Order: sequence, then structure tokens, then C-alpha cells
Amino acid sequence: MPGVCLLCGNECIPAPEYLPKALDYRLCEACSAALAPYSGPSCEICSLPFMGEGPSHLCPQCEKQAPIFDYLSTWGSYSSTLREGIISFKYKGELATRGLLSALFIESLKCAWGEHSPFDAIVPVPPSSERLKERGYDLPSYLALKAAKTWGVKWRPSALERRNGGGHVAGLPLKERWRVVRGLYSAREELAGWVLLVDDVATSLSTLRACAKCCLDAGAEGVSCATLARTPMTPAKGK
Ligand SMILES: [Zn+2]
Ligand SMILES: [Zn+2]
Repeated sequence: MPGVCLLCGNECIPAPEYLPKALDYRLCEACSAALAPYSGPSCEICSLPFMGEGPSHLCPQCEKQAPIFDYLSTWGSYSSTLREGIISFKYKGELATRGLLSALFIESLKCAWGEHSPFDAIVPVPPSSERLKERGYDLPSYLALKAAKTWGVKWRPSALERRNGGGHVAGLPLKERWRVVRGLYSAREELAGWVLLVDDVATSLSTLRACAKCCLDAGAEGVSCATLARTPMTPAKGK
């Protein structure tokens, strides 16, 4: 008996071949198609989806100043079905979508770096403890844990911390946003080697830049980043 789609309730189809056979994949045809990885042109460093035609190249921001991480991998653009899936887990606590989101994330890591990890530690972008308490579902930490298990790399969920409160960056110009965000994060533990920094969604990159800086200050030799989704255009709201 076919199940019902996790996201919209329509009848399910079999999982695409790139996903693990054991995955509890309950999606209809439309949701499945909408969750396919983004394959259009994007920034060669930060994976910003250009949502158009033509070859990949550097986005204006990376061309002006390369980020302090060497690469950001991502699965898809933060819109439609992927966005709904992330929201249903993060804000409504739909645990059923967690397995699916992490399977997409792991697939994106394998596409970017292969079956064997080049990393020495996997560090999630920390939530503020207020927000974590409020929700109880910390997606970056979960994705980082899954990646660490898949690759047999150390999971370092307490390497960084975010101080409570503050960080309201909505509507601020980029420079100002960077100043505010940078003050929110600090390292709690020493790091070494190459670190993979994990977040669920990348928008302006100010969070990833701030956390990457903390990792380098804590002793990491270099930082790469991975997110499940990437916002395709300049956001109206900060993250
Ligand atoms: Zn559906
Ligand atoms: Zn870029």
C-alpha cells in the first residue's frame, strides 16, 4: 500500500536512486521533483545559485573578496519544497522529515568531497541556547552528526558557542550585519586540521564567515562549509 507524502499528503513514489535504500522516503512525484538538487550555474566558491542560464563563475561578493573558507557545498536552493521541509522540522518538529533532510545533505557532501572525508572535525554552527530551548530541534547539529558518522570524522558540537540574545540583523546593510554577527560567536574548544562547518541554510554568509573565523582563531588550519540549502537572492531578512 503506497504511503502518503510527508510534505503534502499525496500518494508516494519510490525514492530516487541517489538516496540510500533504507531511507524512509515518503514523497509524492511533485515534492520529489521539487527536491532534486540544484544543477544550474552557481558561484564557484559560495555556491550562490544564479537561477539562470550560462556557465558557473564567481558571484560579485566572492570576486570582490574571497571568503575565509575555501568552498561552500549545498544541496539546493532555499525555496519551495526544500524550504518547507526545513521549516517543518525546525519550527514544527516534524521528525519524519529529519531523515530525508539529512540524506540529501549527506548526498551533497559526497558529491562535493567524495566517499572519504578530507576533514579532521565537523563543527555545527551553534544555536543560541534560548532558541534551542524554545524549539528543541537543532538541525545544523543533527546534520553535522550524520556527516561525522557517515565519514567516521569527529563530531564537535561544542566547539563554538553563540551568545544569547542580540543578532537582530534584518534590514541592516551587509557591513553592519557582519559587525553584529561577528560579535555573536566564539570558540570554546581548540581545533586542529581542516574543519567542515555545517549550517542548515546559508543566506548572506555572515554567520558562516563569523564561525569560520572562530574556527581559524581556535587553531583550525582551514575551513570548508556545507549547508543543506542556499538562498538564491539577496534576502530581505537576515540569518
Ligand atoms: Zn508531496
Ligand atoms: Zn560567491
